[in-house]
Amino acid sequence: MNERDSEQVAQMLIARGHTITAEAEGADVVLLNTCSVRDLAEQKALGKMGMLRALSRNRPVIYGFLGCMAQSRGAALLREVPHLDLIVGTQKFHRVADYVDQAIERKWAARRDDIRFSVVDVEEEQDSQSTIRDHLLGDKQVTAFVSIMQGCNMHCTFCIVPYTRGHERSRPPAEIVKEVRALVARGVKEVTLLGQIVNLYGRHEFPSFDGKSPFVQLLDALQQTDGLERIRFTSPHPIGFRNDLIESFARLPKLVEHIHLPLQSGSNRVLKAMHRTYTAEKYISLVDRIRAVTPDVAITTDIIVGFPGESEQDYAKTRELVDRVGFDNAFVFKYSKRKGTPASQMEGQLPDSVKEERNQDLLELVNRWAKRRNEIFLGKTIEILCEGASKTNSDRLVGRTRGNKIVVFEGAREHTGNLLNVRIHRCTGYTLYGEPVSR
Ligand code: SAM
Repeated sequence: MNERDSEQVAQMLIARGHTITAEAEGADVVLLNTCSVRDLAEQKALGKMGMLRALSRNRPVIYGFLGCMAQSRGAALLREVPHLDLIVGTQKFHRVADYVDQAIERKWAARRDDIRFSVVDVEEEQDSQSTIRDHLLGDKQVTAFVSIMQGCNMHCTFCIVPYTRGHERSRPPAEIVKEVRALVARGVKEVTLLGQIVNLYGRHEFPSFDGKSPFVQLLDALQQTDGLERIRFTSPHPIGFRNDLIESFARLPKLVEHIHLPLQSGSNRVLKAMHRTYTAEKYISLVDRIRAVTPDVAITTDIIVGFPGESEQDYAKTRELVDRVGFDNAFVFKYSKRKGTPASQMEGQLPDSVKEERNQDLLELVNRWAKRRNEIFLGKTIEILCEGASKTNSDRLVGRTRGNKIVVFEGAREHTGNLLNVRIHRCTGYTLYGEPVSR
C-alpha cells in the first residue's frame, strides 16, 4: 500500500516537471514515505532522514516525511527532526506536489532552513480514498497495484492502522473498473487490489446483490475486462471471507489461486485478546472450505509472536496450526508495542529474548513448509507471467505463478510481459527454477 501511495506522489511530481533521481545524492527534494506498523520501521525512517541531512550542507534541500508516521506523530516530528520541511499524512498524498513547489519557492528565496516554513498536513479529507488513482508504469510493466479502499474499522488491539489510516472508506466500483481498463490499455496484465481488509470493500457504501458482497461484485466486473489476465487481492480478513468469495475462485478464471490470509495466532485466548473475532477452529474450517473449492490454492499468512501474555502453550498452539494448515509461506513478526493501541497497555509484555526465540523457531517451521509446498512443482509445467530481468542476476528472467511463487529461469528478454509455461527443475523455499517450454 505504501509502495502504491509513493507511486501516486511520484506520478504527480513528474507531471509537474520534476524528475526522479537514481541516488539521493543528486536530489533537491527528499521524501520518505513511512510505515508505523512496527517500531523498527519508524526507527529506520528516522535514522535515514538523519543521515540524509548531510545532503543540504552546500545547497538547499527539501525534506519530507509522508504517510503513517507523519500521520501519527504530526508536528511533534519537528522537535526530533528540525530540518523537516513537510509532514504529510495518509489522506493528503495528493497535496504533496503542491507543498513541494511551495517549499522550493520559500526555501530557495530564503536560502536557509527555517522551521516556520515547515508544512504539517495530517487532516482528514473526505473522499481521499479516490485520490490514489494515477500510475507511473515502467517499461514493459505488466503488474500494477490498485488501491480500492482506505482505512480499517477492525481495531485489532495490536494494530496502529486505524489510527494512521482512519476508518474504512471505499472507492466507487466504476472508478476502479475505469482505472483497471486504463492500466490494461497501457500493457498491464495483472492487478493486485489493495485494502487493509480488502474483502470487506464497500460494506458501508454499497449493497450486496444476488447474494454477492460488494467485493465479489467488483471481482465480477473486473473479470469482464478484456486483456486483463490475472486478478489478485491483499489482504483479506478471515472475518467476512464468505462463500460468495470462496466460490469466486472456481467461477472467475482471472482470479488467481493465492490467498494471503492473516492468522496472527493459533491460540484462541490470544486471538481474543487481539480482538481478531475468530477462533483457530474457524480459521482452519475456512482454509478447508477454500481448499475444497480450490485444491491448488496457495495460502500465505501473517503471524505475530510474543503478543502480551502469550504463554508457551499459546505459542505451541500457533505452531500446531501452522503444521495443520501447511502454509505456502508466512510473514512472522515479533510483537511491537504501538503507542495508543490497547495491547500496548496490556499486562504480560514479553522480553525481546522470548519474542526472538519464538520468531526464529516459527520461521524455521514456516520455511520447512515453504520448501515442501514448492517441491510439489518439481517436474511440473506451470504458467508464469514474466516480469523482466531478475534483480539478483540480470542474465535471468523472473516471473510469478498464479499462486504467487517466484520463478527464475533463463530465456529471451522478449518474454518480458508475456504469459509462458515453465518446467520446474529445482526449488528452494522462496524460489522455483525452471526453463520455458512452448505453450
Ligand atoms: N490489515 C491486515 C489484517 O489485519 O489482517 C494486515 C495489515 S498489517 C499492515 C500487516 C501485518 O503486520 C499484520 O497482519 C500483523 O501480522 C503485523 N502487525 C500489525 N501490527 C503489529 C504489531 N504491533 N507488532 C507486530 N506485528 C504487527
